[in-house]
Formats: sequence, structure tokens, C-alpha cells
Amino acid sequence: MRQYRNRLTLIMLTLIGLSMLAAGLAMVTVFKQSHIQLLEDNMVREIRLLQTMMEFPDTTGTDAVAYYTDRSLQLEAVSDARVTFILKDGKVIGDSESDPLTMDNHAYREEMVQAMKEGRGITIRRSHTLQQDMLYVALPVQAGVNFDGFIRLSVSLKEVDEGVKQGWIVMGIGLLVLFLIAAFVSYRVAKGLTSPLEKITRVARRISRLEYDARVNIHRKDEIGQLAQAINGMADSLQTQLRTIRDNEDLLQSVLNNMTGGIVMVNGAGHIMLVNRAAERMLGIQAEVITGKSYRELKQHYELMKLMEEGLESRNSFHEERNIYYPKEAIILLDGVTMMQEEEQDTYRGMLFLLQDVSDIRRLERMRSEFVANVSHELKTPLAAVKGFAETLLGGGVKDEKTSRSFLQIIYDESERLNRLIGDILELSKIESKRIQMEYSPVHLATFFDTISEMMRTVAEKKRINLELDIPEELFMEGDEDKLRQIFMNLLSNAIIYTQEGGRVHLTARERHHAGDADDTVEFIVQDSGIGIPKKDLPRIFERFYRVDKARSRGSGGTGLGLSIVKHLVDLHHGTIKVESELGIGSSFIMEFPILQETDAEES
Ligand code: ADP
Repeated sequence: MRQYRNRLTLIMLTLIGLSMLAAGLAMVTVFKQSHIQLLEDNMVREIRLLQTMMEFPDTTGTDAVAYYTDRSLQLEAVSDARVTFILKDGKVIGDSESDPLTMDNHAYREEMVQAMKEGRGITIRRSHTLQQDMLYVALPVQAGVNFDGFIRLSVSLKEVDEGVKQGWIVMGIGLLVLFLIAAFVSYRVAKGLTSPLEKITRVARRISRLEYDARVNIHRKDEIGQLAQAINGMADSLQTQLRTIRDNEDLLQSVLNNMTGGIVMVNGAGHIMLVNRAAERMLGIQAEVITGKSYRELKQHYELMKLMEEGLESRNSFHEERNIYYPKEAIILLDGVTMMQEEEQDTYRGMLFLLQDVSDIRRLERMRSEFVANVSHELKTPLAAVKGFAETLLGGGVKDEKTSRSFLQIIYDESERLNRLIGDILELSKIESKRIQMEYSPVHLATFFDTISEMMRTVAEKKRINLELDIPEELFMEGDEDKLRQIFMNLLSNAIIYTQEGGRVHLTARERHHAGDADDTVEFIVQDSGIGIPKKDLPRIFERFYRVDKARSRGSGGTGLGLSIVKHLVDLHHGTIKVESELGIGSSFIMEFPILQETDAEES
């Protein structure tokens, strides 16, 4: 645009300059010509005047040269022109500038030749004597018989030239001033024409650089104004369209990122086009890094990548599970869906992969089926005993009273065991399925343990076991009393069961203060002087159905579920439990509970 403006200005200036130069030249020529014409006319008139007014003595006389020279000097003094008297044959007899005797014959001077031929000779010539341009005017003059020749006047054109020079200077200055004015005006005109176009161009460039809030600030009614309006309208519509697109994109993005399922989109060329946050988390990848790359970059998850490959090659949807080992071991359910162009039904656009971490579901399923298998196994053993002894008795083979009574006792014990087992299983499944409601209330521990020790003491006394409780009188804690009772009954009965006759079972409780922000807790220790638990079994005794030694447990009528129920109930109270034990010396179960339950941490 600036180029265009400069060019326009230049053309205008050249035109103005040229026309002014032409005008100047014409003026100078006219000026010079008219001036010279005027001079000529004057000189002709002066010569005519001389012819009639002057006295012309005989030219052949001895003092003729002196006379005419004298006259010519006089005449020059009044007319400011050089005066020369020349005879018909070209001989000079008087001149105001030089001595006639030393002058050449003038017959062939241009003005003389012309005057002889046409009656009037005019010429402009450079005078060597004066080093100036001179105007020569010669007329034939006849005065009776005395003089027959020419009078020639000549004036220097120096003044004319000076006038012309002055004219040039004035004109030059005028020209310059005019030129400057013209330059300024034409610049303004060009600018007025191009600057709105420049403005529009600038705005259009900004819009193409995605600055959609750029607007042209021109309010005119002409074509340029209309162009500006059209550009602004275009920017308006771009801006609204962009906003709509952005809104849609935001919506889509937030849907994608808040989904729990992972999404990976791969186009027809095998390039990953999209990865959502859940997929990033599951696969341990970063969307910015992997987007645009081949799906083969997922080779870290080899089985998953192979499954994707099959889908991409066959272009068939699928629904399968694969294991991954990074960032953590997991089972991923992968759904492959072929994507088609919406308008044209048969254009393949790639595949959409939906990922779901099913590790937890699968683990629970496995646990459930293991549990069912364990339960059936555990139920079968006492049931087989009941059935076997009942059959023997029914067969009538046992005659003596004592044996049949002992068989009946076994049947009774085993059915009792079955009853306990079923009760424990029901309890455990209730706790595990989180159907259990916690009923917190302040528990005064001294009172609470009074009832428990009363119940346990009879069992302990049977084995002559010394049951000692050490509970500070002022100690309270918040808890579900029924569940706390279940915990301690289990632990104390275990302690009594797994301790030989005459042993000792000890329970202590004490408050513990912690440094910093940590809440106060109550620590319980259930300690016995019993048979102890082997080191290798310690990590597993809280598992369901886990018994250290089937034989000794069976003898004691245990189900192997007691400690796993205890562990769950301690967890429900936000507490911890651990065990320390030494074979033949005894075991200690150490628990720690918060004194106060946080209301928002309550289970529903
Ligand atoms: P059980 O009903 O068989 O007692 P538990 O879950 O209560 O089942 O206990 C699991 C196993 O831990 C028991 O079989 C027993 O061998 C061992 N055990 C539990 N408490 C004690 C203890 N105080 N002393 C020694 N062994 C114990």
C-alpha cells in the first residue's frame, strides 16, 4: 500500500515538474525574443533618426575618419550602443570602440551581407573584442553625395541574458515552492486514498493471525466504508463461530476428562488422535507426548497393543481383557469400536478403544468364588462326621451304651461347630459387604470390661487360667459397643483356648498422647502365656479360614474366621491391629483405636 502511495506521489510530482519546466522554457523564450525584437526595433529607429538628423561630410576627406570616429563616440555616449560607420565597399570609417584604421574590411560580416541584400541586416554574434553576445543591426544609409554606406549599431545582450537569468532564478524558486506544495498536496491526496486501505489490510492480517477481536475503525458511506463493514461483519461471524466451537470443545473435553473409562482414538493410518485423562492414568502415558504418534508406541503394554493391532487390521469391533504390568499390574477390559464417517457410511475413520480397569472386579470375583469353595469345604468336614457317626448308630452295630453316647457327643459337637461356622460366615459376609451400620457411643471401658470378664471367667477357671484386666477407671472411648465386645470376646477366648492349663491371660488398656496434630488413641494389649504362633504363620493369621495347625485348631473347635472378623471390626473403628508371638512363650495382640471417631469418616 505504501509502495502504491509512493508511486502515485512520484508520478504526480514528475508530471507537475515537467509541465512547470515546459511553461518556464516557453516563458523565457518568449521573454527573450520579445526583448530582442524591441531592441531591434529601437535600433532601426535610431539609425533612421541618425540618417535624417546627422550631418554627413565627405568621406574621402583627410579628416573624415577623425570626424566619424568622433561622432560615433558622441553617439555611444548618449545611446549606450556601439556605433560604426561603414562605406559601401566595407571599409570602416568610424567606430566607437576601435580605431577604424586597424579594423578589417566589414563587407562580409553577416549583418552587412544581409543589409545589402534585404535593406536591413540583423544578427546576433559573439564579439571577440568584448567577449559578449552582441546584437548587430545595420541599415544602408545615403546622404546626398557625401555618404553612401551603412550605419551599424550594436548592443550587448548582457542585460537581456541577465534578465533571463534572473527570470530563471525567480522561476526556479517559484518552481521549487510550487513543487513542494504539489508534493505535499499529492502526498495528502495519495494518503487519503491509501490509508484506509492500509488500515483494512492491517485488520485483515490480524484476523488471519487469529486475533478475532480486531475491527476496522472506519465510518464512511463510500466503497471503502462498505469494505470495512464487510470485514467487520466477517470478523464478527468468525468470532461467534469460534466461540461456539470452543464451547463445544470444552464440553467434549470435560466429558472426556471426567469419564472413569479410558479412551484412546486411533485413526485409519494408525496414529493416536486422542487420549483422555483416565487412559493416561491407566496406561501411564501422557497425551501431549503420545498424540500424533503410532499406536505401536504403546508397546510397553504388549498384549494390549497386539489386541489393538488385530482390531485395526481386521476393522472389527471386539470386547476382550488383557493384563498390563505398568504403571501397576492391572486387568484391562478393552472395547474396540470401528469408527465410520457419519455422512458416508462406508468410509473407515479408525478405531475407538474404550479401556476399563476391571482388576478390582475380577479380584472380588475371584475372592468370592474362593470363599464359596472354602466355605463348602469347611462345611463338608463336620457334616461328614455327623453323617458318618449317625449312619453307624443307625446301622445298629454299636451295642454298648458308652460308645453310642460318645458317638452322639461327637455328633452334637460337630453340629455345634457347624452352627458356629455358619454364624461366623454370615457375620463375615455381612461385614465384608458393608451392610453393617456403626452405632457409635461413648464407652466407659472399666464398666465395659467388667461384663466381658464375667462372661470369660467361667471358661478361664475351667482351665485354671488366671485372667487379669488392667483398665484405668477414667478411660472412655467412642465406639460401637456390640462390635467392641465381639473383638475382645474373640481375642480373649483365643488366648484362653491356645494357653495351657494354669497359664495366664492379661488385658491392658491405656491412653496414648501423640505429638503434633495427631489425635489421642487408646492402646489395648491382649497377652497370653500360651503356645504361641510360628513366625511363618504370623502374616497370615488374619486371613479367612487360616489356621496355624489344622489338628490343634480342630481340637479347640475353631473356625479360622475369628481373627478375620476381628480385623474387619477394628478397621471399621479406624483402628489398627498387629500381633507379636513367640512359640512356647505366648502371643500379644496389640490394637490402637482413636478415642474419638471423626463424624465425616463414619461409614454409612
Ligand atoms: P480359630 O477359630 O481357629 O481360632 P482364628 O481366626 O481365631 O481361628 O485364629 C486363627 C489361627 O490363629 C488359629 O487357628 C490359631 O492357630 C492361631 N491363634 C489365634 N490366636 C492365638 C493365640 N492367642 N495363641 C496362639 N495361636 C493363636
